[in-house]
Amino acid sequence: MTKGSDTFEIWFVAGSQHLYGPGPLKTVQANANHIAHAFDHAPIIPVRVIPKPIVTTADEITTVCLAANAQANCIGLIFWMHTFSPARMWIAGLKQLGKPFLHLHTQHNRDIPWATIDMDFMNLNQSAHGDREFGYICTRLNKAREVVVGHWEDPNVQGRISDWTRVAAAWQDQQMLRVARLGDNMRNVAVTEGDKTEAQITFGYTVNGYGIGELVARMDAVDSGAIEALCAEYDDTYAMAAALRRDGERREALHEAARIELGLRTFLADVGARAFTDTFEDLCGLRQLPGLAVQRLMADGYGFGAEGDWKHAALVRALKVMGTGRGGGTSFMEDYTYHLQTGNKQVLGAHMLEICPSIATDQPRAEIHPLDIGGREDPVRLVFDAHPGVALNASMIDLGDRFRLVVNPVEVVAPEQPLPRLPVARAVWKPAPDLATAATAWIQAGGAHHTAFSYDVTPAQLQQFAALAGIDYRLIV
Ligand code: MN
Repeated sequence: MTKGSDTFEIWFVAGSQHLYGPGPLKTVQANANHIAHAFDHAPIIPVRVIPKPIVTTADEITTVCLAANAQANCIGLIFWMHTFSPARMWIAGLKQLGKPFLHLHTQHNRDIPWATIDMDFMNLNQSAHGDREFGYICTRLNKAREVVVGHWEDPNVQGRISDWTRVAAAWQDQQMLRVARLGDNMRNVAVTEGDKTEAQITFGYTVNGYGIGELVARMDAVDSGAIEALCAEYDDTYAMAAALRRDGERREALHEAARIELGLRTFLADVGARAFTDTFEDLCGLRQLPGLAVQRLMADGYGFGAEGDWKHAALVRALKVMGTGRGGGTSFMEDYTYHLQTGNKQVLGAHMLEICPSIATDQPRAEIHPLDIGGREDPVRLVFDAHPGVALNASMIDLGDRFRLVVNPVEVVAPEQPLPRLPVARAVWKPAPDLATAATAWIQAGGAHHTAFSYDVTPAQLQQFAALAGIDYRLIV
């Protein structure tokens, strides 16, 4: 997300009516433009905000809603009733509007002008009741929307608008997203299964399977010069284990990891996928389970789910888009094992290999160790600790008749002691409000063992995302 000219934009639309005469409507337009320009220039808001002509009739409202539907880079709208805008005028437009919208409940003036206020001022600045009329029809039409209240210059208001634009961007991305599955599901696993057709109807993304041979063919076509260049990039980027260095005895395994990465990048580009899955039960033709490659692709913004978990591949991608540029990091994650000390209960999260280095506390180490599952050669992986801070786990499940998003904020802590024999990246956290309450609620809600883990998004954003999808949302706090 950037404010560049060819990227996502939000339309700013003020509602009014013709009761007040042309003079006040000019002021309404000028004030709406002023606010939209301020948002457009606000560094905290990561997308363009474009002022649109004010709408004063049902036809004008319907026209702008249909135009928003038709413009691909319009990811959502901000509506504000500067004056009163009788809401039956909004029914036809809102019923057809297919883009997310935010209802901004603000006024151009921050303060009541005590000494000069008269009825002209009251007629012009009546969002306090105009926005309630608009809110009523949105509720009656059962329209999912975010409502933000406060003066438009308030940093908290702009921060909430920023959060929402990020959700709108993720929602738009999900409509275009292709999730590529290399192989099927891990055999007999329940929670990673689901209804891909219903997911497409609900979230917009498509999920399709590919034989592992499609990847192997691209790996076979990689030339040795590209492999050498990528290994040199690894040397410059990571703390390399001695065996993987240029003259190390396992350098050839690093070459193979680079071949996987280059083949995977070509494959994903060829099929247009920004999220993918693999499974250790289908590695025919691969010498290593992809570890380093998956980690680096996630760091570049790809969604990933292990063991065929396409729901979390798509969810990791959504959180990557929402968190763009925030710098905390987002990863695929799995609750792995517990520290059950009284008064100090913690979760150690990790995966066999595939944790995103965007969450690392310092320079990742590139290492090679045996993997006890999959029956392949030792895979190269990045090993690191996740940095301390406030994060959350989010899990998407298919309950057969509906999807559910389960969210639990966590406090990531530094491991109490070094973990010298643990050969994978890991995060140690304390769930809110405490491990016993959180795990009880998580298990009762049916939350998966896989999650999308992020420092860069808030529960409120995920609630907005769930509302756009019309799915069940459970927050554990
Ligand atoms: Mn797993």
